Amino acid sequence: MFQPSFHSAQTVLCIGAHSDDIEIGCGGTLLELLDSNPSIDIHWIVLSGEGRRVDEAKTSAESFLSRGTGRHNVLLKQFRDSYFPTQWEAIKDYFHLLGRQVQPDIVFTHRSDDAHQDHRVVSELTGCAFRNHLVMEYEIAKYDGDLCTPNVFMPISRRNAQVKNDLLMECFESQRSKQWFDEETFKAMLRLRGLESNSSSGYAEGFHCRKMCITAVPDNREPDAGAVDRIGACDVHSD
Ligand SMILES: [Zn+2]
Repeated sequence: MFQPSFHSAQTVLCIGAHSDDIEIGCGGTLLELLDSNPSIDIHWIVLSGEGRRVDEAKTSAESFLSRGTGRHNVLLKQFRDSYFPTQWEAIKDYFHLLGRQVQPDIVFTHRSDDAHQDHRVVSELTGCAFRNHLVMEYEIAKYDGDLCTPNVFMPISRRNAQVKNDLLMECFESQRSKQWFDEETFKAMLRLRGLESNSSSGYAEGFHCRKMCITAVPDNREPDAGAVDRIGACDVHSD
């Protein structure tokens, strides 16, 4: 299958409701992007967390981003965990501020039909603030069983699959008591999406993309005015 590349992306924005969401949802993809283009700029926004979870989020973000040389901006906000729907106005104001501050080539965020209420709020407000952007919605396995088949896949190398899982297990000790938070869950997700996308490594991350605009010209530039003349000069055969 022909695979369009994200290699030319220069600025990425990742948004997570909670301390470990970005890593679980798109940690492998970020490692792949950093391998491909170490100078890529990454804005990493975690919207809630307090105490130990703030420290874990910071350590983890820095560990993932240490593989790159670009400008990295890690922001840890303190909206109240599990109550995002009641903080709609404040979170929306923050997203609109973010939309004025960052012009990302790709936005990674939660899925719009995620079963977690905080994740859904983040997904919807991402769509409000980044209306003219490529938005990739990542997935997070959970007890509620809300997964469905993604429509975009990023192959993940065996090495980066292992790095992702190792960092998750090392950095988020506070989560390890949860029955779902283990290496088998994360590896199973990567393997399943790898199977569905025929990834050569066997691993992939899956995303849901609501809208994607494609182009035939490099770097997303508009065709120049001369292109119209060239089209006009083409031989046209008709019956
Ligand atoms: Zn979460």
